[in-house]
Amino acid sequence: MAQGFGFEISARDGKARTGVIQTTRGEIRTPAFMPVGTAGTVKAMLPGSVRETGADILLGNTYHLMLRPTAARIERLGGLHKFMNWERPILTDSGGFQVMSLSDLRKLTEEGVTFRSHVDGSKHFLSPETSMEIQRQLGSDIVMCFDECPALPADEATVAKSMRMSMRWAQRSRDAFGDRPGHALFGIQQGGVTEHLRGESAEALKSIGFDGYAVGGLAVGEGQEAMFSVLDYAPQQLPDDKPRYLMGVGKPDDIVGAVQRGIDMMDCVLPSRSGRTGQAWTPRGQVNIKNQRHQDDPRPLDENCTCPACRNYPRAYLHHVFKAQEIIASMLLTWHNLHYYQQLMQGLRDAIAAQRLDAFVAEFHAKRAEGDIEPI
Ligand SMILES: [Zn+2]
Repeated sequence: MAQGFGFEISARDGKARTGVIQTTRGEIRTPAFMPVGTAGTVKAMLPGSVRETGADILLGNTYHLMLRPTAARIERLGGLHKFMNWERPILTDSGGFQVMSLSDLRKLTEEGVTFRSHVDGSKHFLSPETSMEIQRQLGSDIVMCFDECPALPADEATVAKSMRMSMRWAQRSRDAFGDRPGHALFGIQQGGVTEHLRGESAEALKSIGFDGYAVGGLAVGEGQEAMFSVLDYAPQQLPDDKPRYLMGVGKPDDIVGAVQRGIDMMDCVLPSRSGRTGQAWTPRGQVNIKNQRHQDDPRPLDENCTCPACRNYPRAYLHHVFKAQEIIASMLLTWHNLHYYQQLMQGLRDAIAAQRLDAFVAEFHAKRAEGDIEPI
Protein backbone atom coordinates (compact mmCIF):
# COMPACT_ATOMS: atom_id res chain seq x y z
CA MET A 1 0.00 0.00 0.00
CA ALA A 2 1.34 3.40 -0.99
CA GLN A 3 2.35 5.63 1.89
CA GLY A 4 -0.36 8.19 2.68
CA PHE A 5 -3.06 6.05 1.07
CA GLY A 6 -5.44 3.80 2.94
CA PHE A 7 -8.87 2.22 2.89
CA GLU A 8 -11.01 1.48 5.89
CA ILE A 9 -14.33 -0.32 5.73
CA SER A 10 -16.61 0.83 8.53
CA ALA A 11 -19.74 -1.22 7.78
CA ARG A 12 -21.02 -3.98 5.52
CA ASP A 13 -24.46 -5.03 4.37
CA GLY A 14 -24.44 -8.18 2.27
CA LYS A 15 -21.69 -7.73 -0.31
CA ALA A 16 -21.91 -3.92 -0.04
CA ARG A 17 -19.42 -1.95 1.98
CA THR A 18 -19.08 1.63 3.19
CA GLY A 19 -15.93 3.29 4.42
CA VAL A 20 -13.29 5.87 3.70
CA ILE A 21 -10.30 6.04 1.36
CA GLN A 22 -7.60 8.20 2.90
CA THR A 23 -5.37 10.24 0.61
CA THR A 24 -2.93 13.06 1.28
CA ARG A 25 -5.47 15.40 -0.34
CA GLY A 26 -8.43 14.40 1.78
CA GLU A 27 -10.84 11.58 2.45
CA ILE A 28 -13.08 9.88 -0.09
CA ARG A 29 -16.28 8.47 1.36
CA THR A 30 -17.27 5.17 -0.22
CA PRO A 31 -19.23 4.12 -2.13
CA ALA A 32 -18.06 7.16 -4.07
CA PHE A 33 -19.23 8.68 -7.32
CA MET A 34 -16.56 10.62 -9.21
CA PRO A 35 -17.72 13.37 -11.59
CA VAL A 36 -15.70 13.47 -14.79
CA GLY A 37 -13.52 16.53 -15.41
CA THR A 38 -12.45 15.48 -18.88
CA ALA A 39 -10.24 18.33 -20.00
CA GLY A 40 -9.49 19.97 -16.67
CA THR A 41 -13.08 20.99 -15.95
CA VAL A 42 -16.36 19.38 -15.03
CA LYS A 43 -18.21 21.09 -17.85
CA ALA A 44 -20.45 24.01 -16.81
CA MET A 45 -19.37 23.80 -13.14
CA LEU A 46 -16.89 25.71 -10.99
CA PRO A 47 -14.74 23.38 -8.86
CA GLY A 48 -16.21 24.85 -5.67
CA SER A 49 -19.69 24.04 -6.96
CA VAL A 50 -18.68 20.46 -7.74
CA ARG A 51 -17.46 20.16 -4.15
CA GLU A 52 -20.76 21.65 -2.88
CA THR A 53 -22.65 18.81 -4.55
CA GLY A 54 -20.73 16.46 -2.25
CA ALA A 55 -18.02 15.14 -4.56
CA ASP A 56 -14.86 14.06 -2.73
CA ILE A 57 -12.85 13.22 -5.85
CA LEU A 58 -12.82 14.00 -9.58
CA LEU A 59 -11.70 11.99 -12.57
CA GLY A 60 -9.39 13.50 -15.18
CA ASN A 61 -8.82 12.06 -18.66
CA THR A 62 -5.21 11.38 -19.58
CA TYR A 63 -5.99 11.13 -23.28
CA HIS A 64 -7.59 14.58 -23.49
CA LEU A 65 -5.04 16.30 -21.26
CA MET A 66 -1.99 14.80 -22.97
CA LEU A 67 -3.19 16.15 -26.32
CA ARG A 68 -4.33 19.53 -25.03
CA PRO A 69 -2.84 21.43 -23.21
CA THR A 70 -0.27 18.55 -22.81
CA ALA A 71 0.89 16.94 -19.58
CA ALA A 72 4.27 18.70 -19.76
CA ARG A 73 2.58 22.10 -19.78
CA ILE A 74 0.33 21.15 -16.86
CA GLU A 75 3.38 19.96 -14.92
CA ARG A 76 5.22 23.24 -15.61
CA LEU A 77 2.19 25.13 -14.34
CA GLY A 78 2.15 23.22 -11.05
CA GLY A 79 0.11 20.09 -11.78
CA LEU A 80 -3.54 19.41 -12.54
CA HIS A 81 -4.91 20.26 -9.07
CA LYS A 82 -3.47 23.78 -9.19
CA PHE A 83 -4.16 24.20 -12.92
CA MET A 84 -7.89 23.50 -12.55
CA ASN A 85 -8.22 24.81 -8.98
CA TRP A 86 -9.37 21.53 -7.41
CA GLU A 87 -7.43 20.76 -4.25
CA ARG A 88 -9.04 17.46 -3.41
CA PRO A 89 -8.12 14.03 -4.82
CA ILE A 90 -8.00 13.38 -8.55
CA LEU A 91 -8.04 9.99 -10.26
CA THR A 92 -6.75 9.83 -13.81
CA ASP A 93 -7.52 7.09 -16.28
CA SER A 94 -4.66 5.65 -18.31
CA GLY A 95 -5.72 6.99 -21.69
CA GLY A 96 -6.06 3.51 -23.12
CA PHE A 97 -9.83 3.38 -23.32
CA GLN A 98 -10.15 6.73 -25.09
CA VAL A 99 -7.37 5.95 -27.53
CA MET A 100 -9.56 3.05 -28.60
CA SER A 101 -12.76 5.05 -28.76
CA LEU A 102 -11.65 8.50 -30.01
CA SER A 103 -8.39 8.48 -31.91
CA ASP A 104 -7.71 7.69 -35.57
CA LEU A 105 -5.27 5.27 -37.15
CA ARG A 106 -4.41 3.18 -34.11
CA LYS A 107 -1.66 0.64 -34.24
CA LEU A 108 -1.61 -1.75 -31.33
CA THR A 109 1.48 -3.81 -30.51
CA GLU A 110 2.90 -5.49 -27.40
CA GLU A 111 4.88 -2.32 -26.84
CA GLY A 112 1.88 0.04 -26.82
CA VAL A 113 -0.47 2.03 -29.03
CA THR A 114 0.45 4.52 -31.72
CA PHE A 115 -2.40 6.82 -32.71
CA ARG A 116 -3.31 10.13 -34.23
CA SER A 117 -4.91 12.87 -32.17
CA HIS A 118 -8.58 13.53 -32.88
CA VAL A 119 -7.79 17.22 -32.23
CA ASP A 120 -5.07 17.98 -34.78
CA GLY A 121 -3.99 14.70 -36.35
CA SER A 122 -0.60 14.70 -34.59
CA LYS A 123 1.01 11.33 -33.90
CA HIS A 124 1.36 9.99 -30.35
CA PHE A 125 2.43 6.84 -28.53
CA LEU A 126 0.96 5.47 -25.33
CA SER A 127 2.40 2.54 -23.44
CA PRO A 128 2.41 1.49 -19.79
CA GLU A 129 5.58 3.54 -19.32
CA THR A 130 4.41 6.71 -21.11
CA SER A 131 1.00 6.54 -19.42
CA MET A 132 2.65 6.34 -15.98
CA GLU A 133 4.86 9.30 -16.87
CA ILE A 134 1.94 11.41 -18.11
CA GLN A 135 -0.15 10.63 -15.02
CA ARG A 136 2.87 11.57 -12.87
CA GLN A 137 3.17 14.89 -14.71
CA LEU A 138 -0.51 15.55 -14.11
CA GLY A 139 0.04 14.83 -10.41
CA SER A 140 -2.98 12.60 -9.98
CA ASP A 141 -3.54 10.94 -6.61
CA ILE A 142 -4.91 7.69 -8.01
CA VAL A 143 -3.18 6.46 -11.15
CA MET A 144 -4.68 3.76 -13.36
CA CYS A 145 -2.71 1.01 -15.08
CA PHE A 146 -2.50 1.17 -18.86
CA ASP A 147 -4.63 -1.61 -20.31
CA GLU A 148 -6.42 -2.70 -23.42
CA CYS A 149 -10.17 -3.08 -23.43
CA PRO A 150 -11.46 -5.18 -26.32
CA ALA A 151 -14.81 -4.21 -27.78
CA LEU A 152 -17.60 -6.59 -26.77
CA PRO A 153 -18.92 -8.90 -28.02
CA ALA A 154 -15.68 -10.71 -28.76
CA ASP A 155 -14.89 -14.43 -28.80
CA GLU A 156 -13.22 -15.95 -25.76
CA ALA A 157 -9.83 -16.42 -27.42
CA THR A 158 -9.69 -12.75 -28.39
CA VAL A 159 -10.72 -11.65 -24.90
CA ALA A 160 -8.16 -13.99 -23.29
CA LYS A 161 -5.33 -12.79 -25.51
CA SER A 162 -6.16 -9.15 -24.84
CA MET A 163 -6.51 -9.75 -21.07
CA ARG A 164 -3.12 -11.48 -20.87
CA MET A 165 -1.46 -8.59 -22.64
CA SER A 166 -3.17 -6.18 -20.23
CA MET A 167 -1.74 -8.22 -17.34
CA ARG A 168 1.77 -7.91 -18.81
CA TRP A 169 1.06 -4.20 -19.17
CA ALA A 170 -0.10 -4.12 -15.52
CA GLN A 171 3.31 -5.44 -14.44
CA ARG A 172 5.03 -2.85 -16.67
CA SER A 173 2.78 -0.13 -15.21
CA ARG A 174 3.70 -1.24 -11.69
CA ASP A 175 7.42 -1.23 -12.53
CA ALA A 176 7.25 2.18 -14.23
CA PHE A 177 5.14 3.71 -11.44
CA GLY A 178 7.83 2.90 -8.89
CA ASP A 179 7.54 4.12 -5.33
CA ARG A 180 5.65 7.40 -5.09
CA PRO A 181 4.54 8.21 -1.54
CA GLY A 182 1.10 9.81 -1.47
CA HIS A 183 0.14 8.40 -4.88
CA ALA A 184 -1.75 5.16 -5.41
CA LEU A 185 -1.75 2.80 -8.38
CA PHE A 186 -4.81 0.74 -9.28
CA GLY A 187 -4.79 -2.43 -11.36
CA ILE A 188 -7.59 -3.17 -13.82
CA GLN A 189 -9.27 -6.55 -14.13
CA GLN A 190 -10.20 -7.63 -17.65
CA GLY A 191 -11.60 -10.86 -19.04
CA GLY A 192 -14.86 -9.77 -20.66
CA VAL A 193 -17.92 -11.67 -19.51
CA THR A 194 -16.08 -14.96 -18.86
CA GLU A 195 -15.76 -15.87 -15.18
CA HIS A 196 -12.58 -17.93 -15.38
CA LEU A 197 -10.81 -15.24 -17.42
CA ARG A 198 -11.87 -12.63 -14.87
CA GLY A 199 -10.50 -14.95 -12.20
CA GLU A 200 -7.20 -15.41 -14.03
CA SER A 201 -6.91 -11.64 -14.41
CA ALA A 202 -7.63 -11.06 -10.71
CA GLU A 203 -4.95 -13.56 -9.69
CA ALA A 204 -2.39 -11.90 -11.99
CA LEU A 205 -3.15 -8.48 -10.53
CA LYS A 206 -3.05 -9.72 -6.93
CA SER A 207 0.36 -11.28 -7.44
CA ILE A 208 1.67 -7.92 -8.73
CA GLY A 209 -0.03 -6.02 -5.90
CA PHE A 210 -1.94 -2.75 -6.20
CA ASP A 211 -3.46 -0.12 -3.91
CA GLY A 212 -6.88 -0.66 -5.44
CA TYR A 213 -8.51 -2.72 -8.17
CA ALA A 214 -10.83 -1.73 -10.98
CA VAL A 215 -13.33 -3.89 -12.79
CA GLY A 216 -12.58 -2.87 -16.37
CA GLY A 217 -14.09 -3.70 -19.70
CA LEU A 218 -17.71 -3.22 -18.63
CA ALA A 219 -20.16 -0.42 -19.44
CA VAL A 220 -19.09 -0.69 -23.07
CA GLY A 221 -22.52 -1.43 -24.46
CA GLU A 222 -23.08 -4.94 -23.09
CA GLY A 223 -26.27 -3.92 -21.27
CA GLN A 224 -27.16 -3.90 -17.58
CA GLU A 225 -28.08 -7.57 -17.33
CA ALA A 226 -24.73 -8.73 -18.73
CA MET A 227 -22.88 -6.21 -16.58
CA PHE A 228 -24.63 -7.32 -13.40
CA SER A 229 -24.00 -10.98 -14.21
CA VAL A 230 -20.25 -10.21 -14.26
CA LEU A 231 -20.53 -8.08 -11.13
CA ASP A 232 -22.18 -11.04 -9.39
CA TYR A 233 -18.70 -12.59 -9.13
CA ALA A 234 -15.98 -10.18 -10.36
CA PRO A 235 -15.68 -7.89 -7.29
CA GLN A 236 -15.33 -10.94 -5.01
CA GLN A 237 -12.39 -12.17 -7.10
CA LEU A 238 -10.53 -8.98 -6.10
CA PRO A 239 -9.01 -8.32 -2.65
CA ASP A 240 -11.60 -7.56 0.01
CA ASP A 241 -9.46 -5.00 1.84
CA LYS A 242 -8.77 -2.71 -1.14
CA PRO A 243 -11.06 -0.27 -2.97
CA ARG A 244 -12.92 -1.72 -5.96
CA TYR A 245 -13.65 0.65 -8.78
CA LEU A 246 -16.16 0.08 -11.57
CA MET A 247 -15.05 2.23 -14.48
CA GLY A 248 -17.51 4.28 -16.51
CA VAL A 249 -20.73 3.48 -14.62
CA GLY A 250 -23.34 4.69 -14.87
CA LYS A 251 -27.06 5.35 -14.66
CA PRO A 252 -28.51 5.63 -11.15
CA ASP A 253 -29.89 2.08 -11.21
CA ASP A 254 -26.53 0.76 -12.50
CA ILE A 255 -24.84 2.44 -9.55
CA VAL A 256 -27.26 0.98 -7.02
CA GLY A 257 -26.83 -2.51 -8.45
CA ALA A 258 -23.04 -2.19 -8.52
CA VAL A 259 -22.89 -1.04 -4.90
CA GLN A 260 -25.07 -4.01 -3.88
CA ARG A 261 -22.47 -6.24 -5.55
CA GLY A 262 -19.49 -4.82 -3.65
CA ILE A 263 -18.27 -1.86 -5.75
CA ASP A 264 -16.76 1.11 -3.87
CA MET A 265 -16.05 3.69 -6.58
CA MET A 266 -17.60 4.71 -9.89
CA ASP A 267 -17.36 7.46 -12.47
CA CYS A 268 -19.50 8.52 -15.39
CA VAL A 269 -20.01 11.50 -17.68
CA LEU A 270 -23.75 10.89 -17.61
CA PRO A 271 -24.93 13.41 -14.97
CA SER A 272 -22.87 16.23 -16.47
CA ARG A 273 -23.32 15.32 -20.14
CA SER A 274 -27.05 14.78 -19.88
CA GLY A 275 -27.36 18.00 -17.88
CA ARG A 276 -26.20 19.82 -21.00
CA THR A 277 -28.84 18.14 -23.14
CA GLY A 278 -31.82 18.84 -20.91
CA GLN A 279 -32.03 15.46 -19.20
CA ALA A 280 -32.44 15.50 -15.44
CA TRP A 281 -32.54 12.71 -12.89
CA THR A 282 -34.77 12.79 -9.87
CA PRO A 283 -35.78 10.07 -7.42
CA ARG A 284 -38.80 9.59 -9.72
CA GLY A 285 -36.66 8.84 -12.75
CA GLN A 286 -35.58 10.79 -15.78
CA VAL A 287 -37.09 14.13 -16.81
CA ASN A 288 -36.67 15.80 -20.19
CA ILE A 289 -36.93 19.47 -19.26
CA LYS A 290 -37.22 20.45 -22.93
CA ASN A 291 -40.61 18.75 -23.08
CA GLN A 292 -43.46 21.23 -23.59
CA ARG A 293 -45.33 19.95 -20.55
CA HIS A 294 -42.92 22.01 -18.38
CA GLN A 295 -43.42 25.41 -20.05
CA ASP A 296 -46.05 26.68 -17.60
CA ASP A 297 -45.04 24.54 -14.62
CA PRO A 298 -44.30 26.70 -11.54
CA ARG A 299 -43.03 23.70 -9.51
CA PRO A 300 -39.36 22.82 -9.00
CA LEU A 301 -37.77 19.91 -10.80
CA ASP A 302 -37.70 18.02 -7.49
CA GLU A 303 -39.41 19.58 -4.50
CA ASN A 304 -37.12 17.77 -2.06
CA CYS A 305 -33.86 18.70 -3.79
CA THR A 306 -31.71 21.43 -2.23
CA CYS A 307 -29.63 22.25 -5.33
CA PRO A 308 -29.74 25.82 -6.74
CA ALA A 309 -31.81 24.73 -9.76
CA CYS A 310 -34.55 23.28 -7.57
CA ARG A 311 -34.35 25.86 -4.78
CA ASN A 312 -34.49 28.94 -6.99
CA TYR A 313 -36.22 28.09 -10.25
CA PRO A 314 -39.44 26.53 -11.49
CA ARG A 315 -39.53 23.93 -14.23
CA ALA A 316 -40.91 26.64 -16.52
CA TYR A 317 -37.68 28.63 -16.18
CA LEU A 318 -35.45 25.61 -16.75
CA HIS A 319 -37.54 24.77 -19.82
CA HIS A 320 -37.24 28.33 -21.09
CA VAL A 321 -33.44 28.62 -20.74
CA PHE A 322 -33.00 25.30 -22.52
CA LYS A 323 -35.25 26.38 -25.35
CA ALA A 324 -33.37 29.70 -25.55
CA GLN A 325 -30.04 27.84 -25.39
CA GLU A 326 -28.81 29.97 -22.52
CA ILE A 327 -25.58 28.88 -20.83
CA ILE A 328 -27.28 28.86 -17.42
CA ALA A 329 -29.40 25.94 -18.62
CA SER A 330 -26.35 23.65 -18.71
CA MET A 331 -25.08 25.07 -15.44
CA LEU A 332 -28.30 24.51 -13.52
CA LEU A 333 -29.10 21.04 -14.80
CA THR A 334 -25.53 19.79 -14.43
CA TRP A 335 -25.52 21.03 -10.84
CA HIS A 336 -28.84 19.33 -10.18
CA ASN A 337 -27.73 16.04 -11.70
CA LEU A 338 -24.42 15.97 -9.82
CA HIS A 339 -26.28 16.87 -6.63
CA TYR A 340 -28.77 14.06 -7.21
CA TYR A 341 -25.98 11.54 -7.83
CA GLN A 342 -24.16 12.58 -4.65
CA GLN A 343 -27.39 12.42 -2.66
CA LEU A 344 -27.89 8.90 -3.98
CA MET A 345 -24.36 7.95 -2.86
CA GLN A 346 -25.00 9.43 0.59
CA GLY A 347 -28.23 7.46 0.79
CA LEU A 348 -26.40 4.26 -0.14
CA ARG A 349 -23.64 4.92 2.40
CA ASP A 350 -26.16 5.63 5.16
CA ALA A 351 -28.22 2.57 4.26
CA ILE A 352 -25.19 0.26 4.36
CA ALA A 353 -24.11 1.75 7.68
CA ALA A 354 -27.62 1.15 9.06
CA GLN A 355 -27.82 -2.36 7.57
CA ARG A 356 -30.90 -1.43 5.60
CA LEU A 357 -29.60 -1.50 2.04
CA ASP A 358 -32.29 -3.88 0.78
CA ALA A 359 -35.02 -1.57 2.05
CA PHE A 360 -33.25 1.45 0.54
CA VAL A 361 -32.99 -0.26 -2.83
CA ALA A 362 -36.65 -1.29 -2.72
CA GLU A 363 -37.65 2.33 -1.99
CA PHE A 364 -35.34 3.55 -4.77
CA HIS A 365 -37.04 1.33 -7.34
CA ALA A 366 -40.55 1.99 -6.02
CA LYS A 367 -40.08 5.74 -6.29
CA ARG A 368 -38.75 5.46 -9.84
CA ALA A 369 -41.67 3.25 -10.79
CA GLU A 370 -44.04 6.09 -9.85
CA GLY A 371 -42.57 8.20 -12.63
CA ASP A 372 -42.45 11.99 -12.82
CA ILE A 373 -45.09 14.18 -11.13
CA GLU A 374 -48.32 14.57 -13.08
CA PRO A 375 -48.36 17.52 -15.51
CA ILE A 376 -50.28 20.53 -14.24
ZN1 LIG B 1 -32.09 19.87 -7.80
